[in-house]
Amino acid sequence: MNITRLDKARDLSFKRQVEEESGQNLSACYQCGKCTAGCPSAGVYDRQVSQIMRAVQMGLKEEALKNRSLWLCLSCSTCSSRCPNNIDVAAVMETLRSMARREGWVQDRPIETFWKSFLDTVKYTGRSYELGVMAGFMARTLRGWGNVEIAPKALQKNKMPFIPSVIQGREEVARIFQRYADKERS
Ligand code: SF4
Ligand code: SF4
Repeated sequence: MNITRLDKARDLSFKRQVEEESGQNLSACYQCGKCTAGCPSAGVYDRQVSQIMRAVQMGLKEEALKNRSLWLCLSCSTCSSRCPNNIDVAAVMETLRSMARREGWVQDRPIETFWKSFLDTVKYTGRSYELGVMAGFMARTLRGWGNVEIAPKALQKNKMPFIPSVIQGREEVARIFQRYADKERS
């Protein structure tokens, strides 16, 4: 990108907004690349996590939000634990995912749909419920069950119970979701 195009693409309020929402000081990043070096998803990313951090620092909003990496991130927090400046990089990635949804820049709809289906089961039962995730995903995408051959073994070993197990304190989990939904709306 040449300098003129770069200047035009910069949104100087973007970095501040990401810092406020994630609670992280992004000026502390000095591009050492340790987050990228430890990231288990680096091989499939279209933009490395340290490049995303740099894009945010420079106010390159589209670069930071319009990529598949945000949706391939495993939220494993390896990047956060490796950062020498104690930046919770995984929290920044989470913030960017949320922003990408708000801005309509999701780059991988099936992953986002799977993610929504998973979160629905956590919201209603307090934990993951595999059959519910699959049913939600198939209903939303109108796709069939891809790995149907593993079903008999998984059912036999009780890896996919028919009845969801609901945790105590499910209401508290539901309240966390409500707080998040209120924040998304505001
Ligand atoms: S949280 Fe995401 S970006 Fe960070 S190391 Fe894990 S997969 Fe990579
Ligand atoms: S590890 Fe921390 S300082 Fe190094 S590039 Fe990643 S975010 Fe920046």
